[in-house]
Amino acid sequence: MSNRKRVLVTGGAGFLGSHLCERLLSDGCDVLCVDNFYSGTKDNVTHLLENPHFELMRHDVTFPLYVEVDEIYNLACPASPIHYQRDPVQTTKTSVHGAINVLGLAKRTKARVFQASTSEVYGDPEVHPQQEGYWGRVNPIGIRSCYDEGKRCAETLFFDYHRQHDLEIKVVRIFNTYGPRMHPNDGRVVSNFIVQALRGEDITIYGDGSQTRSFCYVDDLIDGFVRMMASSKDMTGPVNLGNPGEFTIRELAEAVLKMVGGKSKLVMKPLPQDDPKQRQPDITLAKSVLGWKPQIKLEEGLGRTIDYFRKFVTS
Ligand code: NAD
Ligand code: UDP
Ligand code: UDP
Repeated sequence: MSNRKRVLVTGGAGFLGSHLCERLLSDGCDVLCVDNFYSGTKDNVTHLLENPHFELMRHDVTFPLYVEVDEIYNLACPASPIHYQRDPVQTTKTSVHGAINVLGLAKRTKARVFQASTSEVYGDPEVHPQQEGYWGRVNPIGIRSCYDEGKRCAETLFFDYHRQHDLEIKVVRIFNTYGPRMHPNDGRVVSNFIVQALRGEDITIYGDGSQTRSFCYVDDLIDGFVRMMASSKDMTGPVNLGNPGEFTIRELAEAVLKMVGGKSKLVMKPLPQDDPKQRQPDITLAKSVLGWKPQIKLEEGLGRTIDYFRKFVTS
């Protein structure tokens, strides 16, 4: 029998999942990638299919899954508003039923289990920057609620399985992350602005562009995932992972335009309902417990992401 760690990644064919699978393979793990291709695509992992330590399984996590593994990363869930609002009932099912199945699997196999939670659990926050002790301000019945409340309920399930069944859980709250393999059409701000600038189209700022976000480059985030999984048993989280560098959406638009060049204009569109006004992670906990902090500056990360999208837009 091989002594490689057997790691399950749900949502492994998505943007973050595909980078995580790559990282785990390079760390010497056997990786089982499970995905129903709701918002991810096989294209994100085709380059891994020839690796004998990589396996791809089409499966929906709202149904039970019986496999033998040592560690589980639960990433399955559409992450962009366009995708998670397309079938909101399915989004809640994926977060809640998916968490129950993954936790049942972890309970049976005694695997460590990691949850990709989100800064959305803080909603439209009255506390800035957000630290883990803040309980959040979330609308329970709005158009973002399927995602926000689904993720909040998943966190509850993780902590109840931990208290009730002594599971080793690892909950991280991810703040906006960007990089190669974001979907060109999923409406997230970094991919939208880059694709619009490369096509010479108008850059669409929602509202007046004064709302803020903090953008983390994908490689930094994945490094935080792996450190969290390897942390001591009592480190359950939740722990914030993100880049504290905070920018207004207008500043992001200007930065992208400057880097891509071209003659796109900045245009204003209506602000979507419940759009948070500001968001910035307090990463004191991740720094002290995981020895983690982001290394890649916005300009460098945007450069790599622009290079990736250039291939789509110009071919
Ligand atoms: P993504 O949409 O690219 O990836 C999610 C993957 O999950 C996709 O491949 C999708 O097909 C799969 N999936 C969806 N429903 C499923 C189901 N029922 N069964 C099996 N697979 C299913 O999004 P991402 O940006 O890679 O996000 C990954 C995780 O990280 C998500 O849980 C998301 O909520 C979380 N997250 C991401 C960000 C970010 O900025 N990218 C921020 C906060 C949280
Ligand atoms: N489950 C799974 N794989 C497993 C073990 C359990 O998908 O290897 C599912 C199972 O279908 C159940 C859920 O996880 O619905 C929760 O499991 P748990 O053991 O906590 O609950 P129970 O089976 O007692 O309802
Ligand atoms: N946004 C924008 N133009 C776009 C796409 C998004 O101004 O073309 C804004 C959006 O209203 C929000 C911010 O950018 O204020 C981040 O949006 P995204 O959907 O990427 O992430 P989230 O709102 O989930 O943080």
